Amino acid sequence: MAEAVQTLIILGAGGDLTSRLLLPALGQLLTKEDSRRVTLLGAGSQAWSAAQWKDRVREAFATVQAEGPAVDALLESTDYLTADVTKPDELRGLLGEAHGTPALYFALPPAVTKRVCDALADVELPEGTRLALEKPFGTDRRSAAALNGRIATLVPENQVHRIDHFLGNSTVQNLFGLRFANRIFEPVWNAEHIARVDIVFDETLGLENRAGYYDHAGALIDMLQSHLLQVLAVTAMEPPATMHADDLRDAKGIVLRATRVRDDDAEANSHRGRYTKGKIEGRTLPSYVDEEGVDPALGTETLAQVEFAVDTWRWAGVPFTLRSGKAIGVSRHEIVITFRDAQRVPTGLRGPVRPTRLRITLGPDRMTLELNTNGPGDPRHLDRSVLQADFGPGGLLAYGEVLGQLLDGDPSLSVRGDTAEECWRIVAPVLKAWRDGDVPLDDYPAGSEGPADWPAIP
Ligand code: NDP
Repeated sequence: MAEAVQTLIILGAGGDLTSRLLLPALGQLLTKEDSRRVTLLGAGSQAWSAAQWKDRVREAFATVQAEGPAVDALLESTDYLTADVTKPDELRGLLGEAHGTPALYFALPPAVTKRVCDALADVELPEGTRLALEKPFGTDRRSAAALNGRIATLVPENQVHRIDHFLGNSTVQNLFGLRFANRIFEPVWNAEHIARVDIVFDETLGLENRAGYYDHAGALIDMLQSHLLQVLAVTAMEPPATMHADDLRDAKGIVLRATRVRDDDAEANSHRGRYTKGKIEGRTLPSYVDEEGVDPALGTETLAQVEFAVDTWRWAGVPFTLRSGKAIGVSRHEIVITFRDAQRVPTGLRGPVRPTRLRITLGPDRMTLELNTNGPGDPRHLDRSVLQADFGPGGLLAYGEVLGQLLDGDPSLSVRGDTAEECWRIVAPVLKAWRDGDVPLDDYPAGSEGPADWPAIP
């Protein structure tokens, strides 16, 4: 059992991730696990006093009504250091303030993260130090491999947490129970019975002032390359023997190593779009290219849809479509499993025979199974019945799950180094086809469902 982290050091403590996601998640975690004791050190380039920092932590905690002895103890002891964390001396100073086993959370822009890792090579790290790195991990396979190489000189792989908070989402966690703790799904969870798998994360939000990051990433890198490929891996993995990090991460790695763009044809199997002016829920959104900070010449997509194949016995021939977009009229976050048609429907049963469909929805967390049944009225007529189960909100925010595992030294929800590289390998042909102009950048009005002529997702 790994030593629990006693000091959490957030590098980039003045940024958006820290205030909006990390601190509320930490407050919630400490409220729930009130015997946990962790000291929090913030570090950033802002010249804040300890009192200013404490106020920020308190404000973020208040958003989740954080309370209790663990919260009080953290608020009592938390401190902030103004530091340029790309400098070995300043990192040494920070680590000198830590007690027990520390975790360094890189809430930093990716280019700064790389420089900090280089600087850490000149710093003696305390025994057991954990490193938590945000996405995007590198900018392509080569840079991800180089970053992995550097990190491997700092700490062992099982002390590296490449964060993908989608894996902390309670619905993604529920996939394990649904698939592996029931008799009825796993025997049909394969190409013989499943026609297609779709993983969709469409949101109504537009750019939300994040041009500085998003305009250089786009939907493919921001969502598909990281989060949605991780969800694909959990959806398609072989049953692990245990929930131990090694078993889970091996199983995910096997899926991702077998994943590629369908038919190795990125031109035919990928689509990219960019929103134009439109209305969503009463708000008017400007065209993406008119949003503040956007460089239209970059040709950044705000909607990406790609068909992949998982080239294994279990999944031979089954398309896995991943899609994510901004400024879409209806928010839709789900995994859709479409089963093949019944082998034969008895003559005399009338009505449409539609495929059985399992929808696993993320927020609200729910599962629905759409079936053909002899509904009310004419008993020979087929109707559609829907079985629905609400999972309810998870006990913790997705970042709370992830932080809990970081503090406990359990990397099972984090992305292993080889897998991070695989995810870049998988999307590389799409990035190339788009860069070469082989796939048109289609327009769609904000508030629409995306370009009307793209392949539909059921
Ligand atoms: P921000 O740009 O908001 O924050 C980055 C912080 O790092 C700033 O406070 C900045 O301080 C600080 N910083 C930069 N350089 C240094 C330095 N040399 N020494 C000390 N501090 C420094 O980014 P985000 O918080 O949005 O994102 C951080 C990471 O999290 C990124 O990798 C992002 O991709 C990832 N992420 C973000 C999400 C989000 O919703 N924000 C969601 C999921 C992942 P200053 O401005 O004063 O220079």
